[in-house]
Amino acid sequence: MTKRRFLQDGRTQSHRRRRLTPVNADPAGTAGIKKRKACAAGASITAEAHGPNAAFIKRHGSFRTALGRIETQRKSFISNLKASAMLPVMARRKQENEIQGSLFGDLAPTVPAVRAPRIEPRKLNAPAAPTSTLVPPIPADCYLAEIAVDGPVAGAFTYRAENFRGQLAPGARVLVPFGGRTLPGFFVGEKKAEELAAQGIALSRLRPIIKVLETASQPLVTPTLLKLAHWMARHYAAPLGSTLSSMLPSGVRRGAAGARLRMVRATQPPEKLLEAARALLLKKPRQAQLLMALAAMPGAWSSDPAVADAAPQAIPIAAPELLAEAGAPDSALKALEKSGLLRIEEIRAGHDTDDLAHTDEHGKDLLLNAEQAAAFSRIEAALSAGTFGGFLLQGVTGSGKTEVYLRALKKALEMGRQGIVLVPEIALTPQTAQRFQQRLGFNRVAVLHSHVTDGDRADAWRAVRAGEIDVVVGARSALFAPLPRLGVIVVDEEHENAFKQDSTPRYHARDTALELARLSGAVVVLGSATPSFEALHAARTGKLHHLLLNARVAGRPLPPVSIIDMGEENRESGRYNYLSERLVTDIARTLLRREQTILFMNRRGFSTVITCLRCGFTEKCEHYDITLTSHRGKAAAMSAPYSDSAAALQSRGETLLCHYCGYEKPLPEVCSGCGLPGVKHWGMGTERVEAEVRKAFPNARVARMDSDTMTRRTAYLEALAAFRSGQTDILIGTQMIAKGLDFPNVTLVGVVLADTALHMPDFRSRERTFQLLAQVAGRAGRGDKGGSVVIQTHLPADPAIRAAARHDFESFALQELQERRAFLYPPFTRLARILLRGKEQHKTREAATQLADALKAESAKQAAAVEVELKPGLPPPTLILGPSEPPIARLEGFFRQHIMIKARDSEALSALLNSPAGSVLQKLKGADAVVDVDPLNML
Ligand code: ADP
Repeated sequence: MTKRRFLQDGRTQSHRRRRLTPVNADPAGTAGIKKRKACAAGASITAEAHGPNAAFIKRHGSFRTALGRIETQRKSFISNLKASAMLPVMARRKQENEIQGSLFGDLAPTVPAVRAPRIEPRKLNAPAAPTSTLVPPIPADCYLAEIAVDGPVAGAFTYRAENFRGQLAPGARVLVPFGGRTLPGFFVGEKKAEELAAQGIALSRLRPIIKVLETASQPLVTPTLLKLAHWMARHYAAPLGSTLSSMLPSGVRRGAAGARLRMVRATQPPEKLLEAARALLLKKPRQAQLLMALAAMPGAWSSDPAVADAAPQAIPIAAPELLAEAGAPDSALKALEKSGLLRIEEIRAGHDTDDLAHTDEHGKDLLLNAEQAAAFSRIEAALSAGTFGGFLLQGVTGSGKTEVYLRALKKALEMGRQGIVLVPEIALTPQTAQRFQQRLGFNRVAVLHSHVTDGDRADAWRAVRAGEIDVVVGARSALFAPLPRLGVIVVDEEHENAFKQDSTPRYHARDTALELARLSGAVVVLGSATPSFEALHAARTGKLHHLLLNARVAGRPLPPVSIIDMGEENRESGRYNYLSERLVTDIARTLLRREQTILFMNRRGFSTVITCLRCGFTEKCEHYDITLTSHRGKAAAMSAPYSDSAAALQSRGETLLCHYCGYEKPLPEVCSGCGLPGVKHWGMGTERVEAEVRKAFPNARVARMDSDTMTRRTAYLEALAAFRSGQTDILIGTQMIAKGLDFPNVTLVGVVLADTALHMPDFRSRERTFQLLAQVAGRAGRGDKGGSVVIQTHLPADPAIRAAARHDFESFALQELQERRAFLYPPFTRLARILLRGKEQHKTREAATQLADALKAESAKQAAAVEVELKPGLPPPTLILGPSEPPIARLEGFFRQHIMIKARDSEALSALLNSPAGSVLQKLKGADAVVDVDPLNML
């Protein structure tokens, strides 16, 4: 029996029964806004139904009775597992691993996982229990479709589909009636009429599908993607319909198309065109003009310089440009096309062929060094085997990981297979993205950066489906490109948080890529200089093959790193310096050598805290519990470095900005708390760094790159091009400049303040600090001139900073992993975070307490069920922490509470979330709740 989904979506049991009672019942329509809100907020958990449970439901009709039976069954399942304790340990572990089916985050448990009680999905738009014993016979031509509706409901519903027989492929998009509304949905499988009859459901209660939106024989959700959606919906506790929907770019769903460019290409050499022009000159002067312009147009012709008398080859040129040059109308162009002298071609405007990397010399294959060759040969072997293979390619910055990815992709293409390359934020890594295009062919590779329009993205999807594109490079959603012969998935910088989606379905692209590769028999290469501890743990426990690139290419050393203790620096100088003496000296030397400097500051704005010296009042956001950052703007920073007189600042338009919601207000002249003058700026962001640098080096050419200055993609590319060509001496920026940039003339990297991430209340803050410092440091010394790094910090003894300065990932990881194990954090456990938000503080708190109590009781029950197996020192299957106030206690006018669940493995986690206790989540009063499995954001 196929696996089914069911959403316990915020309704009571009686609600649910009502929904499931007759006549194409409309859960969304009947249960009202509250439920829709809860569902939209992701307040849903799913349970999976299996064969025996389906039988219970059928036999007993009542949901409650079935649950009771299921509980009995669960207990017997557990006792069977307990009996298996006599099995040899290895055999039992194997059995457990099969149950878990998860790659990351298990504690190599020595006790069996507890299975969730299985609940039969109420997936019909008709009742599950008979309402009449007289069910009319089913007509022979009956054809029923299971539809996962893209709305605030989970699960699949049954519709009649006789009118669309032969038009429905699994994954096809349809429109269905749902209550009083028409909603899109996805065909997920056929429903046998006998099943319906056995459930005593009359056909007359089912409504028909309204329309099939994709009549093509190849739906954009391929069968493999459909399976992936099922996995995601279960793993991330998300509704199936919205999971499927999130796989399709919005442009595809809307039927958008990208802009087209008309290009003209001559079909004859220039002299023939001129000959034809002479003949037309009197009768058709405009056509003649057009031909003459085409023959003479620079860029319209190229010839092979290697062959002395090579005939010029026609290059397509933009039609509007040609028409303007010739002063001819479009009709002249069309007439000439008819006469066969030229061809008009249409290309996709979004096809990214004109960006900066064209000037790179990355077109050819490089000769792999020994480490690269060893890594590639293992990937190649897995590709040749044609089965799933997972690799962690851990290589220091500049060790040539990208070259290994390229070879893997080339190999896959040679084998007739296809590839996906995921990069954390494509707008930030144009160099990497374009290397793929240059090496693998512009026409076969689609680069989907965040500035690609919806229409262009939709075009790319269709081109992929039509088999015109073999490699898709993009951010996490590129994973869902409908490539039918997927052979390799690369996840570059796999440790990056950008791979986790922060709305439903809250999936992690790395983990989802692994599942997709398993389903496709493909190879996954996770690449990083500083792997996530999840990937590292998987590699150490043999779940991923570990490939190492320990040295930079061409024997280049990693740059030496100096740590500057800013506390000591300031004590000595007796005033607060933003740039240390050492950093200033090093920048001066770099400028003298005509080399370049990158200065990294991971906070934008000017000052991060505005406080009154008299009363201590701190400026905060009106909607959030967050301090406001002051912004002076580019012009202000450039014209006059700074003066702390509030009146002076205000006259220059200094504003206070909330970085969470965009709330903005002018810097007040007097303190908003006591009304007296004397507000003080504390902390620094990129604007302050820019002002300090300009003050210290008035003649240097300085550029700042952060989300305030780089609002257009072209601005980013232009700034990078200026830096590459040497027009900029000092580049200041946020993490925008920390990754992927490969500039050989950069010989100095300064980290202006390394501590920002360390102060985050998050168990990953040290891991993130190390990752970021290693990435930034990796921008220095990539050329033959070498380079060095200066890290300024107030925490010079912090293990993450010290290890980063030694480029010592291994011992840092070892120490951190020991702590994670001791405190039961991932990768040794799996986490889920339940975030509640409500309009009233006490109701939110009450709801959180009620939910936490229910979860704690269930957790204790489940622990007791496996008690016999528990060894001293081993944690119970799940631990419930909280409720407590999260670091951001108020957001968008809502009060917030959160509950953390630590689970020994993913099975224990879903057992808890899918238990009856989990369903309390949907009955909460006065608060919405969102479940985030494997959360990265703890705020
Ligand atoms: P990573 O992705 O590990 O940071 P890259 O793949 O960007 O490293 O490689 C760093 C630089 O070394 C690039 O300029 C790349 O062209 C060059 N490179 C990579 N492999 C080789 C090789 N085998 N021989 C010569 N140069 C190489």
